[in-house]
Amino acid sequence: MNFLKQLSVNFRRAIYFNLMLLTLLYAGEINWNSISGTHWVIFFEANDSKNANKLLTTLDQAYPKISVALGIELTDSVYFFMAPTESDYLNHVGSSIPNWSSGVAFPAQRRIVLKSPRTSNQPNAPFKTAVHELAHIMLHSNIDGRAIPRWFDEGIAVYFSGEKMYASGSLVSKAVISKALIDLMEIDRVLKFHQDKARLAYQQSYLAVRYLFEQYGAEQVKKLVQQLRQGNDLDQAMLNTIGMDMADFEYEWYHHIRNKYRWHFLMDFDYYLWIIILGLFILGFILIRRRNRKTIKRWEQEDDWDEPWSDTDSSTI
Ligand SMILES: [Zn+2]
Repeated sequence: MNFLKQLSVNFRRAIYFNLMLLTLLYAGEINWNSISGTHWVIFFEANDSKNANKLLTTLDQAYPKISVALGIELTDSVYFFMAPTESDYLNHVGSSIPNWSSGVAFPAQRRIVLKSPRTSNQPNAPFKTAVHELAHIMLHSNIDGRAIPRWFDEGIAVYFSGEKMYASGSLVSKAVISKALIDLMEIDRVLKFHQDKARLAYQQSYLAVRYLFEQYGAEQVKKLVQQLRQGNDLDQAMLNTIGMDMADFEYEWYHHIRNKYRWHFLMDFDYYLWIIILGLFILGFILIRRRNRKTIKRWEQEDDWDEPWSDTDSSTI
C-alpha cells in the first residue's frame, strides 16, 4: 500500500516537474541551450555558453564540499536557468523577489534562476551566487517543505559560497556600535528589507553559522543538519546537538560578536584619518584667519597711535 502510495506521489511529482520545465522553457523568447552535469541541468542562451561551462566546473567543485560537510547527497537533478538579461531574470523569479537579488532558489521545484554573468560588473560574483543557491537546494532536499529559520539557511549558503559582500563583518562592526544588530529570527523577513539592511542580515547570518562551526565544530553542525532532516525544528536540533536552544545560542553569540567587533571600526582607520586631516586643515585655516584679523586690528590701532607723532615730526622740519 505504502509502496503504491509513494509510486503515485512520485508519478505526480514527475508530471509536475515536466510541466514546470515545459512552461519555463517555452515561456518568453529565449532560445535555451542546455548542458548536463552529475546532479544538474543548466539552461542558457547561446551567448552564455562559456559561462554555462564555467558554471558546470564551479558546481562540480563546490558540490562535494557541501555534500561532505552537511552529509547531504542530491538524489534528483537541479535545474539552473541563466537569465540572459535583467528583465528575463525578473520574468522568471516573479515580482515578490527584490531586485537587489542576483539569484533565487526554488527548493520545491529544485529550480535555480541566476542572472547571466554578462549582466554583472563582477565577473566571478554570479558563480558564487550559484553555489549559494545550490547550498539552499541541498539544505532543503528531503525535508518535506518544512521551514528552516532564514538566518541558518542564509548563513549556511554564504558559508559555502564565500560571497565577499556577505562573508564579512564590516557592517556588523558598525551595527554593534550603533546598536543596530537585527534579531536572528527577524531575518526571516529579509526579502522585505531594503538592500543595506538585507546585507547586514546576510553578514549576521554568516557570522552566526561560522560561530557554530568554530565554537562547536563541523561534526556538530553536520549532526544539527541531520536533525533537521529527521523532522526536528531548529530549536530542538540545537538542543540535541550543541545543548542549547535558539534563544540561549543567540545570547551567547551576541556576547561573542560584541566583544569581537566592538573596536573593529578602527580597522577603517584610513577613512577616519582623512576626516581628521580634513578637520585639522579647516581648523588651521580658521586659526590663521583669526590671527591675521587680530594683526590687522593691531596695526590699525598702532596707526592711530602713530599719527600725533607724525604731525609733531612734520612741524619740526
Ligand atoms: Zn540565500
